[in-house]
Amino acid sequence: MHDVTRTQKFMVTRAEGVWLWDDSGDRYLDGTASLWYCNVGHGRTEIADAVHQQMTRLDAYTVYGDFANGPALELGERLTAHAPVVDPRVILTCGGGESIDTAAKLARRYWGVTGHPGKTHLISRTGGYHGLHGFGSSIIGMERFRAGFGPLIEDVSVIPHDSVEALEAEILRVGPENVAAFFAEPVIGAGGVYPPPGPEYFGAVAEVCRRHGVLFVVDSVICGFARMGTWFGIERYGVRPDMIVFAKGVSSGYLPLGGVIVSGEVAEPFWNRPGNPFLHGTTYAGHPACCAAGMANLDILEREDLFTVSLEIEAQLDAAVRQLADHPMVGEVRAGTGVMAAVELSSEALDERGITTAEVFLEARSRGVILRPVPRALLVSPPLIITWEQIEHLVGTLRSALDAVS
Ligand code: PLP
Repeated sequence: MHDVTRTQKFMVTRAEGVWLWDDSGDRYLDGTASLWYCNVGHGRTEIADAVHQQMTRLDAYTVYGDFANGPALELGERLTAHAPVVDPRVILTCGGGESIDTAAKLARRYWGVTGHPGKTHLISRTGGYHGLHGFGSSIIGMERFRAGFGPLIEDVSVIPHDSVEALEAEILRVGPENVAAFFAEPVIGAGGVYPPPGPEYFGAVAEVCRRHGVLFVVDSVICGFARMGTWFGIERYGVRPDMIVFAKGVSSGYLPLGGVIVSGEVAEPFWNRPGNPFLHGTTYAGHPACCAAGMANLDILEREDLFTVSLEIEAQLDAAVRQLADHPMVGEVRAGTGVMAAVELSSEALDERGITTAEVFLEARSRGVILRPVPRALLVSPPLIITWEQIEHLVGTLRSALDAVS
């Protein structure tokens, strides 16, 4: 939960590059790019300037029906130019969870209008995180996020994240005539940083989906916009999904922005049609100021070639965090695919001694480094401008924090 009660809060008052300051003036290394999103780093005045200019020209206007605005159209063109999707179209939203709901509803509606109304079932993977809106909460691969809300969307299933055979078996068990779509992150992020089991995995997934008439939806919310060295992360595996969901790094979080890239085939029944049967949308979709922030952010990613830089950071982060593998508190280190890493505590520390990742997080923060605790691991996903010295500082601080709780 993100409540805003004032007591006992860690107040972030200023940020610049990879650094944050709290209300006592103490400085911290942002080891998580806030919540996985600040790819270009903090304090980029050119994004603020672009938003200011846009808001003084046109504050906001709906893109409902045949309305449009320049930044939304330009952003759409720029994204489709790079998307590994056949004949791509873009739907804009205000974030990741909203985009997941959009993709899930579009998948179901697509099958409905093409004569397969029974195809509604959605499949996702263990550890998969797809936001916490209605569909995201229903397909999430972490049971604890589903509990306590009463019945969610029930024709869903979660399969092991490392098995193509399990995907095909589940499609056959449910019946291909009932399955609408399969959702997967290129690298599972919030669920604990799990890269695919091998480079051939996504090619095989795409083939199974195609053979059984199941739409393949890639959730690139974390993996996109250079965090894996490419625009959407999935390019690394040479496949072309039916839809790509994006958010976070598209604007580096300077303003809320997300969307869904849809193949021409899936878009065809809906695009520019009078009486469009996809009755879905939200008030702030295509907000010009958010799109202007996105465009300025993409300018930085391209101008500073953070797509290439991030591959160097990926290798450096991998090498640095692996040095922690021999620490007695550490059970496993996962890194090396994208600028993200998980340092999982040992079962002895977690299950026998009852040490929590929250304790390690607080120790690291008190030493000036922000990490992200999940139940069994500390996650790292810094801005894509972090230097080697800063990576060493981050990993050295994590080591001290592990020492302190052991
Ligand atoms: N999908 C993935 C892979 C995510 O990591 C997240 C958020 O962390 C979401 C979807 C949801 O995005 P939002 O929090 O903007 O709704």
